[in-house]
Amino acid sequence: MKMLKPDLALIRKYDQPGPRYTSYPTALCFTEDVDKEELLEDSKRETGPLSLYFHIPFCESLCWFCGCTTVITTDHDRSKAYLDLVEKEVNLFLPYLQPGRKAAQLHFGGGTPNFLEPDLIRRLGSIIHDNFSFQPDSELSVELDPRRLTRDHIRAFAEMGVNRASFGVQDINPVVQKAIHRVQPTELNTQAIEWLNEEGFKSVNIDLIYGLPHQSVESFSETLDEVIDYDPDRFAVFSYAHVPSIKPAQKILARASLPPPETKLEILTMLTEKLTANGYVYIGMDHFAKEDDELTQAQRNKTLQRNFQGYSTKADSEICGFGLSSVSQTSRVYRQNYKTSDLYNQSMANGILPVQRGYILSHEDRIRREVIMRLMCHLTLNFEEVSQKLNIDFPHRFSREIASLRKMEEDELVVITPESISITELGRLFIRNVAMHFDAYLQGKENRYSRTV
Ligand code: SF4
Repeated sequence: MKMLKPDLALIRKYDQPGPRYTSYPTALCFTEDVDKEELLEDSKRETGPLSLYFHIPFCESLCWFCGCTTVITTDHDRSKAYLDLVEKEVNLFLPYLQPGRKAAQLHFGGGTPNFLEPDLIRRLGSIIHDNFSFQPDSELSVELDPRRLTRDHIRAFAEMGVNRASFGVQDINPVVQKAIHRVQPTELNTQAIEWLNEEGFKSVNIDLIYGLPHQSVESFSETLDEVIDYDPDRFAVFSYAHVPSIKPAQKILARASLPPPETKLEILTMLTEKLTANGYVYIGMDHFAKEDDELTQAQRNKTLQRNFQGYSTKADSEICGFGLSSVSQTSRVYRQNYKTSDLYNQSMANGILPVQRGYILSHEDRIRREVIMRLMCHLTLNFEEVSQKLNIDFPHRFSREIASLRKMEEDELVVITPESISITELGRLFIRNVAMHFDAYLQGKENRYSRTV
């Protein structure tokens, strides 16, 4: 796929704060003013497969660009106490699930899941397998940090069935690495890839970030050449969003050394051309995958989904999140755990599930969620199909939104026909801007999101 080259004026026009739509309504709509028991009880009505998420918040040091919920510590004993609480959380939650439901997906995120020592990973595996059973084709994946990785960590995850891994490289340039407080020699990346291949992992994803201090088109091109050589199945290439008001650690990153928008655009154009020339398909929203990858196939077959972990091929699963800050999702509600250790620990000490806030979707929310997720994942919206699924007259009900997309059509970012809206290849860069036309809650929240391009 060859992508059209965007010009700076277009980027400037559409580069505005906007949601990433890992949920709709977004987490900014979640509230503590909601009946927590009602949020939990909703799981009893669900019958579909489960998507399990375990958040391991610990990291030994903080990367200065990071916006995740982390606990920075070198005290590994803390992780043992944490697993005790996670086990308790699983046991408190199980009565809300109908018997016999199987998991289709399991993901470990963080933080750094391999902060856990291999024996603790094995214990976590036992907690999971003692309490949940899995469908035969389920997807089990983990985020790893090559700087803290041993072969035994990988084996311990593999023993519980994990065979997909994702790890951050961000940039291989030593000057950039020093500036972001994440020094990760190349040998650690190649060692991680070698171990993962030898342990039979069937998919590897690499995360990169552009827009970091001291990056140039040339330096990032070298990073790409290096990581393409690793031959991963997927890339997630994120645009660095400098929002120190929301992510305080970013204050350390000197604004002066950040590349200007012109350079970021050149990097974006270069990386898109380079990855697509090397056989990766641009899925949208920073994600690239090989032609034969399940993500690419799912997009083609219109079965791709979007959730808190990004893109997913498992449709209609109930997300059950465990641990600090994790988000859970049924078809009707979202709920999120406490983000700080103190509150999470306190709730668990009282034997109460650590739900801090959540959201109950209205009928209108569910309609808009379906529309937004179809656009984000399928890059096209057939009016007849969506009308039938939602039992609405889509062109009539959303006539105002369709009309408001005409300006994007003039810029060749979308194509609107009497039957459908389709996002063009160039428009994939602006996919969040398209979805924002169908978001009923943007007003007043705009500046709390990262920029869209
Ligand atoms: S290792 Fe990952 S989660 Fe931990 S601080 Fe760095 S970027 Fe954040």
